[in-house]
Amino acid sequence: MQGVGFRPFVYRMALKHELNGWVQNTNENVRIRVTGQPEKISGFLISLESEAPPAALIEKIVTEVIQEEEFTKFQILQSHDISEEITEISPDIAVCDDCLEDLNRQGNRLDYAFVNCTNCGPRFTIIRDLPYDRAKTTMQVFPMCGECQKEYENINDRRFHAQPTACKQCGPWYELFVKGKNVSDEIGEIISLVSRSIQNGRILLMKGLGGMHLACDAFNETAVENLRNIKMREGKPFAMMFRDMEALKKHASADFTEEQSLQSWRRPIVLLEMKRNEEQWLARTVNSGLNLIGAMLPYLPFHHLLFQQLKTSAIVLTSANFSNEPILIDNEGALSHFSDHVDALVLHNRDIYNRADDSVVRIMGGKERVFRRSRGYVPTPVRTALNTEGILAFGAELTNCICIGKGQKAFLSQHIGDLQGIETIRFYEQTIAQFLRLFRVKPALLAVDMHPGYQSTITGRNFGTVPIVAVQHHHAHIASCMAEHQLDEMVIGVAFDGTGYGDDGNIWGSEFLVCDLMNYRRITHFEYLPMPGGDMAAEEPWRMAVSLLYKVYGKDFTDLNLSFFRDIESEKIEILTRMIDRHINCPLTSGAGRLFDAVASMLGLCQIATFQAEGPMRLESLAQKNCPGSYPVEMNDTICFNATVRGIVDDLIRCIDITIIASKFHNTIISVIFEAANAIRKKEGINKVVLSGGVFQNKYLLEGAITLLEKNNFEVYTHAAVPANDGGIALGQLAVASKRRKNKCV
Ligand code: ZN
Ligand code: ZN
Ligand code: FE
Repeated sequence: MQGVGFRPFVYRMALKHELNGWVQNTNENVRIRVTGQPEKISGFLISLESEAPPAALIEKIVTEVIQEEEFTKFQILQSHDISEEITEISPDIAVCDDCLEDLNRQGNRLDYAFVNCTNCGPRFTIIRDLPYDRAKTTMQVFPMCGECQKEYENINDRRFHAQPTACKQCGPWYELFVKGKNVSDEIGEIISLVSRSIQNGRILLMKGLGGMHLACDAFNETAVENLRNIKMREGKPFAMMFRDMEALKKHASADFTEEQSLQSWRRPIVLLEMKRNEEQWLARTVNSGLNLIGAMLPYLPFHHLLFQQLKTSAIVLTSANFSNEPILIDNEGALSHFSDHVDALVLHNRDIYNRADDSVVRIMGGKERVFRRSRGYVPTPVRTALNTEGILAFGAELTNCICIGKGQKAFLSQHIGDLQGIETIRFYEQTIAQFLRLFRVKPALLAVDMHPGYQSTITGRNFGTVPIVAVQHHHAHIASCMAEHQLDEMVIGVAFDGTGYGDDGNIWGSEFLVCDLMNYRRITHFEYLPMPGGDMAAEEPWRMAVSLLYKVYGKDFTDLNLSFFRDIESEKIEILTRMIDRHINCPLTSGAGRLFDAVASMLGLCQIATFQAEGPMRLESLAQKNCPGSYPVEMNDTICFNATVRGIVDDLIRCIDITIIASKFHNTIISVIFEAANAIRKKEGINKVVLSGGVFQNKYLLEGAITLLEKNNFEVYTHAAVPANDGGIALGQLAVASKRRKNKCV
């Protein structure tokens, strides 16, 4: 990967172990040739693994003894294939320990908030073009001073060829604005003003690495509420940054793997189980009453400087944007939109070129699963076993990412968002153009969702005279997971999500497929349910509860003694049943997400969602590991939950604890996954099961399904580096398009 100083590192290690030879980048790997004493070579090999820069991802080291050759020195050789060399850029890297020490050391970098080196600092977010050198980044406007230049040219220096390197003398700086006026550009003063403001319950806008954040004290209820008002978004949980691991562990539990993710150079937001801390309570509204919190650790020098002064050990750090708009990146926009809303703005004069939100991950089944793939992860490619050259995949509608193919690599873009606002659509179009240019890809084949109305489909269809492939949404989900694992054969695909356009015109989302990368057969699915009000039913789970109860109990369902009927006006329920009777605006759905919505509503957890998947998330947060039992299900051509619903209603009437009901419901779905997969295995002789779709971001469900399937000797494949939600769809589209092109079906 470019920009992580791997070849200079190899050079230094060769010198350290007194070896001669060379190092060179090739298409798929780094080649090293050395001659010297065998024990020195062994030492060199150990150093390669143990001392490598953290962001240099070594997959494996293969060694071979070959004909001896005489070298007089060790050299970094030019790459053979320049076009390939320019395709791999490093994602942004959290500030390293050495640079943090520089912050405390007298000299040019004392308290310098833009300190970085070959092992850390901005990459993707500042790169305008390739090859990666300073002139093609937003650091271009800051010529290096003599000192920095010396370090930059010294191969033994930590800053050798560190393109964004800078110091107080030559680099960018922070500026504090109050009411639109610049009040300070002295970092010490800014940090002390900012920390005092946060302490006093104020709300600040802070420019970061891939965009602007809004920040406030995470313990201050009023401040958090004010922040919610500014964002005009009541519901969504906010991410928090903790001073350090010790502070974090007072409020969340983190096992070894979770700690690893929190402390990795990618520094994502990690979803963790919340701990009730009796001495000090996080603001109640910070995570909207879920049992999860989104936590991260400082990743910018600025964050570290701030926490040195701050008394509070956690701040809310959420993207500065308005609903449906992408995270803000430019100073002018921040000043004009936020000067009247926040108490102060902390900006800086290093431009952000590629927007990147904080990434979000969750540890499930002992592995890191990426939910939102952005800062720290993009633009690392997914290595496929397919010829992806020239394929451009447009993604779906919500949580969109695009994907482009080069060689066998697939470059998934950063998280773009829901293609519903003008600004997001503009960001979407920009990203397509930027990725094509950055990676020198000339589109030869396009891939879109089958949904004719998606903005992404429309953009694809209007793209130009390039052949186009439409891929069914759930086939794309499974293909995405297959591509991530380089699978290219017949598999059993289980795709559970909220919505996706089916080829019978209905809304799918609980699909059991037998598929390869070319085609799919839909074997079974959850029984269709009317969605009264269409998209409204996805936002208002009570509508799905009415639909489900009406289907199971018929006209008299309102006589059931459920607290649900006290939550919802009877008039509204009547209107809905009439809509269902007359088939007015009631598309049919098999979406698993809708079933979870209905159950969440019946349990009184969520009638109107204030953020995406709120109902299912609240339902999941009740499920208990040690709670066995499940409800009956009828599995024929389709999967019918009538008996399940009767079981849930009976339990509700008997006042059974809702944590037990939620657990039993989850167990029911897990056993449905197994039973259906098992029936398909018996018939088709396929043993590989691929799980995909946003519903598999449910930890209880995913872990339960993996355990049960593996216990029954299935080979189970699940997402890790690529999101299981629609953020991974573009990769699946690209994989299907590649396969169809290979088989001349385009
Ligand atoms: Zn560093
Ligand atoms: Zn300098
Ligand atoms: Fe989906």
